[in-house]
Order: sequence, then structure tokens, then C-alpha cells
Amino acid sequence: MTDQTPRADAAHEEGLSFSFKAETRQLLNILIHALYKDREVFLRELLSNASDALNRVRFEMVTNREVLDPNAELDIHITVDKEARLLTIRDTGIGMTKEEIIENLGTIAQSGARQFIEASQEKNADFSRLIGQFGVGFYSVFMVAEWVRVTSRSYQPQAAAVSWYATGEDSYRVSEADLATRGTIVEVKLKEDAVEFADDFRLKNIIHKHSDYIGFPIYVGSEDQPVNKQTSLWRTSRQEVTAEQYKDFYRQLTLDFEDALLHTHLVTDAPVQLYALLYVPAKGERGMFSLRKEDGLKLYSRNILIDEYNKDLLPEYLRFVQGVVDSEDLPLNVSRETVQSSALMARLKKVVTGQIMKELETLAKNDAEKYQVFWHEFGAYLKQGVAASAADGSSIYPLLRFKTNRSPEAWSSLEDYVGRMQAGQKEIYFIIGDDPKSVLRSPHLDYFQAQGSEVLLLTDPIDSFMLMGLRKYKDFDLVNVAQAKLTAPEKPKEEVEAQKIPEADFSTLIEHFKKVLGERVTDVRASTRLSQSVARLVDPDGSLNPELQRVYRYLGKEYEVPKKILELNPSHSILKNLLKIDPASELPNLIIEQIYDNALLVDGLHPDPSSIAARVQQIMDAAVSSVAPK
Ligand code: ADP
Repeated sequence: MTDQTPRADAAHEEGLSFSFKAETRQLLNILIHALYKDREVFLRELLSNASDALNRVRFEMVTNREVLDPNAELDIHITVDKEARLLTIRDTGIGMTKEEIIENLGTIAQSGARQFIEASQEKNADFSRLIGQFGVGFYSVFMVAEWVRVTSRSYQPQAAAVSWYATGEDSYRVSEADLATRGTIVEVKLKEDAVEFADDFRLKNIIHKHSDYIGFPIYVGSEDQPVNKQTSLWRTSRQEVTAEQYKDFYRQLTLDFEDALLHTHLVTDAPVQLYALLYVPAKGERGMFSLRKEDGLKLYSRNILIDEYNKDLLPEYLRFVQGVVDSEDLPLNVSRETVQSSALMARLKKVVTGQIMKELETLAKNDAEKYQVFWHEFGAYLKQGVAASAADGSSIYPLLRFKTNRSPEAWSSLEDYVGRMQAGQKEIYFIIGDDPKSVLRSPHLDYFQAQGSEVLLLTDPIDSFMLMGLRKYKDFDLVNVAQAKLTAPEKPKEEVEAQKIPEADFSTLIEHFKKVLGERVTDVRASTRLSQSVARLVDPDGSLNPELQRVYRYLGKEYEVPKKILELNPSHSILKNLLKIDPASELPNLIIEQIYDNALLVDGLHPDPSSIAARVQQIMDAAVSSVAPK
């Protein structure tokens, strides 16, 4: 059947003409000329818009607002006229007023589209790949359309019908329309080379592929059986969902073009009725191309979207999780406020959180490699969780990973650490510092390296914050190796004793150090903990612990590093030789200064590291001239 002739073409179209914004023009221009093999995605975009519109009108109806045509079936009809190359998609959704149609179709709202334009401006941009990546929304129809007419009537009973018409050139027209019923009709005049889409069979295939789980019936042609399955994917039983569908759903939800790291599909009846389809993205940063503009899960009540970004279903530290939660138990007539405060939400949160934590533990157990990827991206979130939820942080502990002095390249869990503890060890040791390399050179580690004790290397700024919550794992306190007092098992070694500088000489040395360093240290004394290093700094009793000192430093609080005690290694050759140099000469003073600066440096406390260079030069001078033939 040939259609009643298309109502108009560009030349005859009536109404007011509006110019597209520059960036929209640019996008249209690319799309019109795109040689993109997956052009069929335009249908998915149009159907997804129709489905959104239907969802929104359903929401209006359950919140008891007055709606035009309250009894109209919520569905989508697609018809084609092959000869006229006309494809028509009609929905009974929320519709648009004149203002809305100008606002929504005249400018680019979609972040994907905007990113697409930015990316397409790069040299040698491959448009076809970009279109696939970004999802460009409604405008993708211009890949197949000679012209498009959108006729719409808003659900608001007083609003008039309106029509929008564009050929993909610089402007579009808006005019009054003749549409008595609620919803939107999108007419697409297909380009000659896109006539393949004027075919029921082809359309049905595309719908199966991309839009099967749209929650409203989609009818094609005159058939009275809907083409799509209609159950939302999250309401479909797990056995029926393919891996491909899970992936596809994630892509549509986020526009993330990397697959999710893991997904979990939850259907339970107790303690609450709940469907959830949740994803852990592959990247910690929400990609700048993401369709999700905020954190939060999509919350549905009985298949009706009630909150696009619900943040009450997961704790802060899992805010990177994406997905959908749907519950039959949420009252239909809900407002955001009642949702937030309800006890039901607390129960949903518990189930959803528990599920994610369980999945992560399973991943950690079964696929260490993938878990490392997760840890790399999201470790900081979990650490933050430990810092923030001091009381109930313990559920996060098994998920934490650490590098240690024993295996600086590999990741260990606290459980791994505890499993490797030496007989008699009663504490978990850690060292904090600025980076894994320098921390391994720290004099604080000397003793533990010598003892063969394992020490956690905490070199993330967030680690100091985490330690505020993580004080104990199982029965073991976490203890900073830099802390002066330690109950670590000591193994005195006779030969070490023998190598020590005699007591009297050592006192002279200490006096010399005190004289040179003056007010900068509270004391200078011998250390029992050092073997490789000359010296280290420790905190006097009663001062703020080093973790908190760091926290203060990171928070940028007005804060001065407290004065420390300098501990010297009584067996170290540098000190022995220092005693042999004429105390009246310049060199011993330079070396004492340098020992102190080095100790500050390895602790990441030096206020002005580059100032050291000048002194090092003086010391080199002295060294060179002492060996150079006169
Ligand atoms: P997005 O759907 O991601 O917001 P689109 O470019 O696809 O971006 O659509 C722009 C806007 O136009 C939508 O947000 C919606 O407000 C409106 N719109 C598009 N199609 C319809 C429709 N069938 N019914 C009602 N509104 C629609």
C-alpha cells in the first residue's frame, strides 16, 4: 500500500524556522555523510527515546497527575511504506510541548554526542568508529534519513500538538500540528541507500538484537503480537540472559565502550523483593564519554523508573557501581523523600551492598589477576571506606591489598600477611612513605629486614587516612615501624656488640651532633634498631603519631613537623670514621648536617630537598681533595 503522500518536503514545510546550534550542525554534517556500517543503531536510539517517554508518562500517572489519554495503551508502533521509503515510529509516551521540542531536538543534550564532536575534531578522526563508541542519540537518524518529522503532543491536557521538521541542514522548522492523542510520531524519510530499513523483517531483527528488553510492547506493521520480549533484562531469569545481552545492557546504560569488570544479577524474594543488575566498570574514573552523569543506581519501583541516580542503595565507597535496582516492595506512589527515609531502603541497601561485596570477594579468590585490575582502579575507594566507616569497616578488610617488603611487586591481603607471620609475632607492621622505592630504603626498615619480618608498605596518600579506621586486623594491632617503642622480638647479636663504637667515644660523637643540630632535634641517642643505615628520626613520646602527621600534611592544615629524636647507629663505619677526623675542621659538621637531612628526606619530611645539593658538593670537594695527589 502506498502511503497518503508524504505531507511535505523541505520547500513546502510551514512554520517557524530555527537555526541549529553550531555544534549540532557539525554533528549532523558528519552523520549525514557517515559511511557507518552499523547504521541500524539509529533504530535503537529512537526506540530508547520512545521507551523513556513511556516510562516518564507512567511515572506521571502513578504520581496521580492529570494526564491526557490516561487509558491509552503504553506501546510503540512501527510501520513502513516501502515505496515512499517512509518509516514511522509512534509512541504513546509523555510527548513534548512546543518549547520542549525546540529545547530537546534543537540542541545537543546528549553528553555522548558532545564528546563525539570533540573527538571528531581530532586529526585523522575515524568517524565510523566514533559513532559506534559514543551513541549520538536522536540525531543518529540522520545517518539514514533524507528528512525527519517529529510530531508530538504532550501529556499535559492543555498543551497543543507540535511538529518539528529537519533535513539535516542548518535549520529546522517548528509548526502547529494536528494530533489529537498523546505521544510522539517520528517519521523518517529514508535515503535511497537506506531503503533496506523499510522492511518489516529487517526491523524485527534489529529490534531483537538491540531493543528486545524494552519494557513496552513494540509492534511492527499490522501484527498484533509485539516483536520484543518486553521484560526488562533485570527481571528476566538469569538462565535466559546471554553474556552478550549483559554486555549490551551495560553499554546502553553507560556508553562505556570497555566491558564491565564484573556484573551480578540478583533476584530475591527475601528479606525484600528485589531485582538488581549491577556492574563494576573497568575504570575508576567515570569516562568523560559516559552517559551516566552522576554516581548512583537507577531505582525502579515495579518496573517504573523513580530515580535516575539513587545514592542511598550503596555505601559511599561502592559509588562506582553502575546498574539497576527494582523492587516490588517499594510503594508505587513514591516521592524521592519517602524513598530516602524508608526502612525498606535500608534493607535494599544491605542486600545490594552484601551482594557486591560477595562478588568482589569471589573475584579476589578466583581470579587474582582480574582482582588486581579492580584493586588498581578502585582500591582507593575501599581505603576511603575503611577510613570513613571505622566501626563497620571490617567487611572491607578482606578486600584490601598491600605491597610488602617481602614482595614489593606483588599484592598481599591481610590474611596472606597473617599467614606468613613469624612465630611469636603479635603485631602487623607497616611503614608509611611517599613511594614504594624510597620506603624500601628507609632506616626504619633496617631492623625488620634484618629480622626477616614482613612489613606492609603504605605509600598512597590515602593510606594514612585508612589507618585511622584500620587499627586492628583479627587479633593483631597494626604498628608503625617508625614508632620508637616496639615490642618486636629482638635478637641481640654478639658480633654486633663487638663492632660498636666504645661508649666514651660515642658520647663525644653525640655531643658533637647536638651542638651542630641544636634546636632542630629534641635528642640524639644510640639506636638498637639500625643495621644498614647511619641514622633515623623517631618521635618523642607523646607526639602525634606519624600517620596523623601525614593526614594533617595532606589536609593542608597549618602544621609543623614536630621535633624529633635522631637515633644513630653505633656500629656504622661513617660514624667511626667521623671520630677520626679533626673535630675543628669543617667536614664533620657538614657530614652531621647531611646525615640529618638524609633522615628527613627518607621520611618525606624535608622542607627543601634541593638545598642539599650545595652541601653535597662541598662534601665531594673534601673527599676528592683528600685522595688527590698533592
Ligand atoms: P537523550 O535521549 O540521551 O536525552 P536524544 O538526542 O536521543 O538524547 O533526545 C533528546 C531529547 O529529546 C530526549 O532527552 C527527550 O527529552 C526528547 N525526546 C526524544 N524522543 C522523544 C520521544 N519519542 N518522546 C518524548 N521525548 C523525546
